[in-house]
Amino acid sequence: MKIFVCIKQVPGVSEVRINPNTNTLIREGIPSITNPFDKNAIELALTIKEKHGAEVIAISMGPPQAEEVLREALAMGVDRAFLLTDRAFAGADTLATSYTLSIAIKKILKESKERRNYLVICGAQATDGDTGQVGPELAEELKIPQITYVQKFELNENKIIVERVFRSEEVVIIESRLPALISVLKEINNPRYPTTSGIVDAYSKKEVVHFDAEALKPNKSKIGLSGSMTEVWKIFIPERKEEQIVLKGSKEEIAKELCKNLKNDKIL
Ligand SMILES: Cc1cc2nc3c(=O)[nH]c(=O)nc-3n(C[C@H](O)[C@H](O)[C@H](O)COP(=O)(O)OP(=O)(O)OC[C@H]3O[C@@H](n4cnc5c(N)ncnc54)[C@H](O)[C@@H]3O)c2cc1C
Repeated sequence: MKIFVCIKQVPGVSEVRINPNTNTLIREGIPSITNPFDKNAIELALTIKEKHGAEVIAISMGPPQAEEVLREALAMGVDRAFLLTDRAFAGADTLATSYTLSIAIKKILKESKERRNYLVICGAQATDGDTGQVGPELAEELKIPQITYVQKFELNENKIIVERVFRSEEVVIIESRLPALISVLKEINNPRYPTTSGIVDAYSKKEVVHFDAEALKPNKSKIGLSGSMTEVWKIFIPERKEEQIVLKGSKEEIAKELCKNLKNDKIL
Protein backbone atom coordinates (compact mmCIF):
# COMPACT_ATOMS: atom_id res chain seq x y z
CA MET A 1 0.00 0.00 0.00
CA LYS A 2 1.15 3.53 -0.78
CA ILE A 3 0.28 6.56 1.29
CA PHE A 4 0.75 9.98 -0.33
CA VAL A 5 0.98 12.92 2.04
CA CYS A 6 0.56 16.39 0.54
CA ILE A 7 2.62 19.02 2.30
CA LYS A 8 2.62 22.75 1.84
CA GLN A 9 5.28 25.20 3.00
CA VAL A 10 3.64 28.21 4.64
CA PRO A 11 4.87 31.41 6.32
CA GLY A 12 5.71 30.71 9.96
CA VAL A 13 3.95 33.77 11.32
CA SER A 14 0.42 34.33 12.50
CA GLU A 15 0.12 37.68 10.72
CA VAL A 16 1.20 37.69 7.09
CA ARG A 17 2.20 40.93 5.35
CA ILE A 18 0.75 41.71 1.93
CA ASN A 19 2.17 43.74 -0.91
CA PRO A 20 -0.79 46.06 -1.74
CA ASN A 21 0.47 46.67 -5.30
CA THR A 22 0.80 43.04 -6.38
CA ASN A 23 -1.72 41.48 -3.95
CA THR A 24 0.80 38.79 -3.06
CA LEU A 25 2.28 37.67 0.24
CA ILE A 26 5.56 39.27 1.27
CA ARG A 27 7.75 36.22 1.82
CA GLU A 28 11.14 37.95 2.19
CA GLY A 29 12.56 37.71 5.69
CA ILE A 30 9.73 35.49 6.87
CA PRO A 31 10.59 32.01 8.12
CA SER A 32 8.74 29.16 6.42
CA ILE A 33 7.34 26.12 8.15
CA THR A 34 5.42 22.95 7.32
CA ASN A 35 1.70 23.71 7.29
CA PRO A 36 0.70 22.53 10.82
CA PHE A 37 -2.19 20.31 9.60
CA ASP A 38 0.22 18.57 7.23
CA LYS A 39 2.31 17.41 10.19
CA ASN A 40 -0.82 15.63 11.46
CA ALA A 41 -1.16 14.10 7.98
CA ILE A 42 2.45 12.84 8.13
CA GLU A 43 1.92 11.47 11.65
CA LEU A 44 -1.18 9.54 10.55
CA ALA A 45 0.65 8.10 7.53
CA LEU A 46 3.55 6.96 9.73
CA THR A 47 1.18 5.40 12.29
CA ILE A 48 -0.59 3.45 9.52
CA LYS A 49 2.79 2.32 8.17
CA GLU A 50 3.89 1.11 11.62
CA LYS A 51 0.64 -0.82 12.16
CA HIS A 52 -0.12 -2.20 8.70
CA GLY A 53 2.98 -1.67 6.55
CA ALA A 54 3.00 0.90 3.75
CA GLU A 55 5.29 3.13 1.76
CA VAL A 56 4.85 6.77 2.78
CA ILE A 57 5.49 9.34 0.05
CA ALA A 58 5.51 13.09 0.71
CA ILE A 59 4.72 15.51 -2.13
CA SER A 60 4.89 19.28 -2.22
CA MET A 61 4.43 21.79 -5.00
CA GLY A 62 6.31 25.00 -4.47
CA PRO A 63 9.52 26.94 -5.05
CA PRO A 64 12.93 25.21 -4.58
CA GLN A 65 13.06 26.27 -0.91
CA ALA A 66 9.99 24.07 -0.25
CA GLU A 67 12.53 21.21 -0.21
CA GLU A 68 13.04 22.15 3.45
CA VAL A 69 9.58 20.89 4.50
CA LEU A 70 10.16 17.66 2.59
CA ARG A 71 13.49 17.14 4.43
CA GLU A 72 11.58 17.58 7.68
CA ALA A 73 9.05 14.96 6.52
CA LEU A 74 11.91 12.58 5.66
CA ALA A 75 13.39 13.23 9.13
CA MET A 76 10.05 12.29 10.71
CA GLY A 77 10.18 8.93 8.89
CA VAL A 78 8.64 9.39 5.44
CA ASP A 79 10.16 6.97 2.89
CA ARG A 80 10.31 9.12 -0.25
CA ALA A 81 9.82 12.80 -1.03
CA PHE A 82 8.98 14.63 -4.25
CA LEU A 83 9.12 18.37 -4.93
CA LEU A 84 7.11 19.65 -7.91
CA THR A 85 8.94 22.79 -8.85
CA ASP A 86 9.08 24.77 -12.07
CA ARG A 87 8.47 28.39 -13.05
CA ALA A 88 5.61 27.04 -15.18
CA PHE A 89 3.79 25.99 -11.97
CA ALA A 90 4.03 29.49 -10.43
CA GLY A 91 0.87 31.50 -9.81
CA ALA A 92 -1.21 28.34 -9.47
CA ASP A 93 -4.57 28.62 -7.74
CA THR A 94 -6.07 25.65 -5.91
CA LEU A 95 -7.33 24.06 -9.15
CA ALA A 96 -3.94 24.22 -10.89
CA THR A 97 -2.22 23.09 -7.67
CA SER A 98 -4.42 20.02 -7.32
CA TYR A 99 -4.06 19.15 -11.01
CA THR A 100 -0.26 19.30 -10.72
CA LEU A 101 -0.28 17.19 -7.55
CA SER A 102 -2.56 14.66 -9.27
CA ILE A 103 -0.31 14.11 -12.29
CA ALA A 104 2.68 13.57 -9.98
CA ILE A 105 0.73 10.97 -7.98
CA LYS A 106 -0.38 9.26 -11.21
CA LYS A 107 3.23 9.19 -12.44
CA ILE A 108 4.50 7.61 -9.20
CA LEU A 109 1.65 5.06 -9.24
CA LYS A 110 2.32 4.20 -12.88
CA GLU A 111 5.90 3.35 -11.99
CA SER A 112 4.80 0.96 -9.21
CA LYS A 113 2.82 -2.29 -9.16
CA GLU A 114 0.24 -1.02 -6.67
CA ARG A 115 -1.88 1.21 -8.86
CA ARG A 116 -5.17 0.98 -6.95
CA ASN A 117 -4.01 0.32 -3.39
CA TYR A 118 -3.35 3.79 -2.09
CA LEU A 119 -4.46 6.51 0.29
CA VAL A 120 -3.89 10.26 -0.07
CA ILE A 121 -3.75 12.37 3.10
CA CYS A 122 -3.97 16.17 3.09
CA GLY A 123 -4.27 18.70 5.86
CA ALA A 124 -7.78 20.12 6.29
CA GLN A 125 -6.49 23.56 5.28
CA ALA A 126 -3.33 25.58 4.78
CA THR A 127 -2.69 28.38 7.26
CA ASP A 128 -1.94 30.91 4.49
CA GLY A 129 -4.28 30.27 1.52
CA ASP A 130 -6.77 28.65 3.91
CA THR A 131 -9.30 27.56 1.29
CA GLY A 132 -9.40 23.85 2.19
CA GLN A 133 -9.99 23.18 -1.52
CA VAL A 134 -6.84 21.38 -2.60
CA GLY A 135 -7.74 18.02 -0.98
CA PRO A 136 -11.26 17.79 -2.49
CA GLU A 137 -10.07 18.99 -5.91
CA LEU A 138 -7.22 16.50 -5.88
CA ALA A 139 -9.67 13.66 -5.16
CA GLU A 140 -11.76 14.81 -8.14
CA GLU A 141 -8.68 14.82 -10.39
CA LEU A 142 -7.77 11.31 -9.23
CA LYS A 143 -11.43 10.20 -9.47
CA ILE A 144 -11.37 8.70 -5.99
CA PRO A 145 -13.70 9.12 -2.96
CA GLN A 146 -12.89 11.94 -0.53
CA ILE A 147 -13.63 12.40 3.16
CA THR A 148 -12.73 15.78 4.65
CA TYR A 149 -12.27 16.99 8.26
CA VAL A 150 -11.28 13.59 9.63
CA GLN A 151 -10.56 13.37 13.36
CA LYS A 152 -10.32 9.58 13.81
CA PHE A 153 -9.04 6.95 11.40
CA GLU A 154 -9.00 3.17 11.19
CA LEU A 155 -7.82 0.87 8.41
CA ASN A 156 -9.37 -2.56 8.08
CA GLU A 157 -8.02 -4.60 5.15
CA ASN A 158 -8.55 -2.22 2.21
CA LYS A 159 -11.42 -0.37 3.87
CA ILE A 160 -11.13 2.81 5.90
CA ILE A 161 -13.50 3.83 8.69
CA VAL A 162 -13.25 7.43 9.78
CA GLU A 163 -14.91 9.99 12.00
CA ARG A 164 -15.66 13.17 10.10
CA VAL A 165 -16.54 16.37 11.91
CA PHE A 166 -19.72 17.76 10.44
CA ARG A 167 -20.86 21.39 10.97
CA SER A 168 -18.17 21.79 13.71
CA GLU A 169 -19.99 19.77 16.32
CA GLU A 170 -21.65 16.70 14.84
CA VAL A 171 -19.60 13.64 13.99
CA VAL A 172 -20.40 11.20 11.21
CA ILE A 173 -18.76 7.81 10.76
CA ILE A 174 -17.93 7.06 7.14
CA GLU A 175 -16.56 3.96 5.51
CA SER A 176 -14.78 3.90 2.18
CA ARG A 177 -12.80 1.50 0.09
CA LEU A 178 -9.30 2.38 -1.07
CA PRO A 179 -8.12 4.24 -3.02
CA ALA A 180 -9.43 7.31 -1.20
CA LEU A 181 -8.40 10.77 -0.08
CA ILE A 182 -8.87 12.16 3.40
CA SER A 183 -8.11 15.57 4.88
CA VAL A 184 -7.25 15.63 8.56
CA LEU A 185 -7.88 17.90 11.53
CA LYS A 186 -5.38 18.62 14.31
CA GLU A 187 -7.45 16.56 16.75
CA ILE A 188 -6.46 13.34 14.96
CA ASN A 189 -3.03 12.98 16.65
CA ASN A 190 0.05 14.67 18.04
CA PRO A 191 2.82 14.82 15.42
CA ARG A 192 6.13 13.29 16.48
CA TYR A 193 9.41 15.20 16.56
CA PRO A 194 12.13 14.01 14.19
CA THR A 195 14.87 12.03 15.95
CA THR A 196 18.53 13.09 15.68
CA SER A 197 19.31 10.07 13.48
CA GLY A 198 16.20 10.85 11.42
CA ILE A 199 17.50 14.37 10.76
CA VAL A 200 20.98 13.07 9.85
CA ASP A 201 19.47 10.49 7.45
CA ALA A 202 17.16 13.09 5.89
CA TYR A 203 20.13 15.23 4.89
CA SER A 204 22.74 12.53 4.15
CA LYS A 205 21.04 9.29 3.01
CA LYS A 206 17.60 10.24 1.68
CA GLU A 207 16.88 12.42 -1.33
CA VAL A 208 14.18 14.82 -2.44
CA VAL A 209 13.32 14.03 -6.05
CA HIS A 210 12.49 17.11 -8.14
CA PHE A 211 9.82 16.90 -10.84
CA ASP A 212 9.67 19.83 -13.28
CA ALA A 213 7.11 20.40 -16.02
CA GLU A 214 9.15 18.32 -18.46
CA ALA A 215 9.10 15.32 -16.10
CA LEU A 216 5.36 15.57 -15.43
CA LYS A 217 4.30 16.30 -19.01
CA PRO A 218 1.22 18.26 -17.94
CA ASN A 219 -1.53 19.70 -20.06
CA LYS A 220 0.01 23.21 -20.19
CA SER A 221 -3.37 24.92 -20.05
CA LYS A 222 -4.00 23.32 -16.64
CA ILE A 223 -0.88 24.44 -14.75
CA GLY A 224 0.35 27.72 -13.23
CA LEU A 225 -1.42 30.95 -14.06
CA SER A 226 -2.98 29.68 -17.29
CA GLY A 227 -4.57 26.76 -15.43
CA SER A 228 -5.93 29.02 -12.68
CA MET A 229 -9.64 29.76 -12.94
CA THR A 230 -9.58 32.28 -10.09
CA GLU A 231 -8.04 35.71 -9.93
CA VAL A 232 -7.13 37.51 -6.71
CA TRP A 233 -8.68 41.00 -6.89
CA LYS A 234 -7.72 42.19 -3.48
CA ILE A 235 -6.05 40.62 -0.50
CA PHE A 236 -6.07 42.36 2.86
CA ILE A 237 -5.94 41.78 6.59
CA PRO A 238 -9.25 42.83 8.17
CA GLU A 239 -8.86 45.92 10.32
CA ARG A 240 -9.10 45.13 14.02
CA LYS A 241 -11.50 47.32 15.92
CA GLU A 242 -10.75 46.98 19.58
CA GLU A 243 -12.85 49.28 21.69
CA GLN A 244 -13.40 48.99 25.41
CA ILE A 245 -16.56 50.39 26.84
CA VAL A 246 -17.03 50.45 30.59
CA LEU A 247 -20.68 50.41 31.58
CA LYS A 248 -21.58 52.06 34.85
CA GLY A 249 -24.72 52.14 37.00
CA SER A 250 -26.96 49.57 38.67
CA LYS A 251 -27.17 45.97 37.38
CA GLU A 252 -30.43 46.80 35.60
CA GLU A 253 -29.00 49.97 33.99
CA ILE A 254 -25.85 48.09 32.87
CA ALA A 255 -27.96 45.24 31.41
CA LYS A 256 -30.18 47.73 29.51
CA GLU A 257 -27.17 49.65 28.19
CA LEU A 258 -25.43 46.39 27.15
CA CYS A 259 -28.53 45.23 25.21
CA LYS A 260 -28.75 48.64 23.52
CA ASN A 261 -25.08 48.44 22.44
CA LEU A 262 -25.44 44.87 21.19
CA LYS A 263 -28.54 45.88 19.18
CA ASN A 264 -26.71 48.90 17.72
CA ASP A 265 -23.85 46.59 16.66
CA LYS A 266 -26.44 44.17 15.18
CA ILE A 267 -25.26 41.37 17.47
CA LEU A 268 -28.67 41.03 19.11
C1 LIG B 1 -4.75 33.63 -8.90
C2 LIG B 1 -3.96 33.02 -7.78
C3 LIG B 1 -2.59 33.11 -7.84
C4 LIG B 1 -1.82 32.55 -6.85
N1 LIG B 1 -0.49 32.62 -6.95
C5 LIG B 1 0.28 32.05 -6.01
C6 LIG B 1 1.68 32.11 -6.11
O1 LIG B 1 2.22 32.69 -7.05
N2 LIG B 1 2.42 31.52 -5.15
C7 LIG B 1 1.83 30.88 -4.09
O2 LIG B 1 2.54 30.33 -3.23
N3 LIG B 1 0.49 30.81 -3.97
C8 LIG B 1 -0.29 31.38 -4.90
N4 LIG B 1 -1.62 31.34 -4.77
C9 LIG B 1 -2.17 30.62 -3.65
C10 LIG B 1 -2.31 29.19 -4.05
O3 LIG B 1 -3.35 29.00 -4.92
C11 LIG B 1 -2.68 28.39 -2.85
O4 LIG B 1 -1.79 28.67 -1.81
C12 LIG B 1 -2.60 26.91 -3.14
O5 LIG B 1 -3.28 26.58 -4.30
C13 LIG B 1 -3.12 26.09 -2.00
O6 LIG B 1 -4.38 26.57 -1.59
P1 LIG B 1 -4.61 26.79 -0.07
O7 LIG B 1 -3.43 27.49 0.50
O8 LIG B 1 -5.94 27.38 0.13
O9 LIG B 1 -4.56 25.29 0.48
P2 LIG B 1 -5.71 24.43 1.16
O10 LIG B 1 -6.63 23.93 0.14
O11 LIG B 1 -6.28 25.17 2.34
O12 LIG B 1 -4.76 23.25 1.65
C14 LIG B 1 -5.31 22.00 2.08
C15 LIG B 1 -4.25 20.95 2.01
O13 LIG B 1 -3.89 20.73 0.64
C16 LIG B 1 -2.52 20.39 0.55
N5 LIG B 1 -1.80 21.40 -0.23
C17 LIG B 1 -2.17 22.67 -0.48
N6 LIG B 1 -1.25 23.29 -1.25
C18 LIG B 1 -0.28 22.39 -1.49
C19 LIG B 1 0.94 22.41 -2.21
N7 LIG B 1 1.35 23.49 -2.85
N8 LIG B 1 1.68 21.28 -2.25
C20 LIG B 1 1.28 20.16 -1.61
N9 LIG B 1 0.14 20.07 -0.91
C21 LIG B 1 -0.64 21.16 -0.84
C22 LIG B 1 -1.99 20.32 1.98
O14 LIG B 1 -2.15 19.01 2.46
C23 LIG B 1 -2.94 21.27 2.71
O15 LIG B 1 -3.00 21.02 4.09
C24 LIG B 1 -2.42 31.90 -5.75
C25 LIG B 1 -3.82 31.83 -5.67
C26 LIG B 1 -4.57 32.39 -6.68
C27 LIG B 1 -6.07 32.28 -6.58
